[in-house]
Amino acid sequence: MKQPLILEIKGNSLDDGPGIRSVVFFKGCPLACTWCHNPESKRMGVEIGFEARTCAGCDTCMGVCPEKAISRNNPFFIDRSTCTLCFQCVDTCPSGALSRIGSSMSVAEIVSQVIRDKPFYDTSGGGVTLSGGEPAMFMDFAGELLKALKAAGIHTLIETCGLFDPDRFNNCIYPWVDVIYYDIKLIDQDAHVRHCGVSNERILNNFKALNTCARDDEISIIPRTPLIPGITDTPENIKSIAEFLSSCGVSEARLLPYHPLWQEKNCKIGISPNTGNSPEMDQWLDNRVLENCRAIFEAAGISI
Ligand code: SF4
Ligand code: SF4
Repeated sequence: MKQPLILEIKGNSLDDGPGIRSVVFFKGCPLACTWCHNPESKRMGVEIGFEARTCAGCDTCMGVCPEKAISRNNPFFIDRSTCTLCFQCVDTCPSGALSRIGSSMSVAEIVSQVIRDKPFYDTSGGGVTLSGGEPAMFMDFAGELLKALKAAGIHTLIETCGLFDPDRFNNCIYPWVDVIYYDIKLIDQDAHVRHCGVSNERILNNFKALNTCARDDEISIIPRTPLIPGITDTPENIKSIAEFLSSCGVSEARLLPYHPLWQEKNCKIGISPNTGNSPEMDQWLDNRVLENCRAIFEAAGISI
């Protein structure tokens, strides 16, 4: 079984499905969206993180690093080309400014952690959400986890980018999931390759097939579109998505307003905060854009 690294298990979430939820973030994603709001979840492997505002300036890390990879002259503090990920600096940092990103957990360990909040799930109509990254990159593991959660009487939801082997998804994940949040970002093929790094052909085909099955099986599949300034929030793209969803018989979707907080997360893992992006991407999404996009969806008979 392909073993994922877990980025984080976040409790008390109100944003990742119905009710109060715990969210299990998988590390690794087959897409490369330029605006990714969880950039530390993109790579599958373990990484080192540095948060400048938490650093106490003691320089202990520089003394213990065997590679001399840490320097205040480096804008990202750590030279990741020479760092060997020994984590001696993380272990000795007194302030928690340095961190290991990604840890190995078994299905049983995850279940034993999230089950502690079952009373909150039960009273709020919540449960557990698998997110990322892309949980469907780890079909067997995600399937085992969902199966164990269902056996424990916990409501399950998966957030997916839609780029997966449909047969494996149907066998491993589909039987154990109550709700699927499915991202549809761009309809134009070239734009999808340009901004997300891959073609959207399989993503759209998977959605059509899954949506048909889910309707028959009364599983809730809800498409979501992140509104990224000048990329996904254009009237042309929103109209194309609304037409596509309408042709699939979809009557409900979600719009995810853009925020620029991911740029700080980029710095944490040594990536320039706004490489090649427009100045609009330094701002929070204008509410009027959200309302225009909502109006386009609603005109196509899709409630937001
Ligand atoms: S993880 Fe090890 S090699 Fe990398 S910066 Fe820290 S001490 Fe140096
Ligand atoms: S050990 Fe931690 S607190 Fe001290 S300088 Fe390094 S990162 Fe900052």
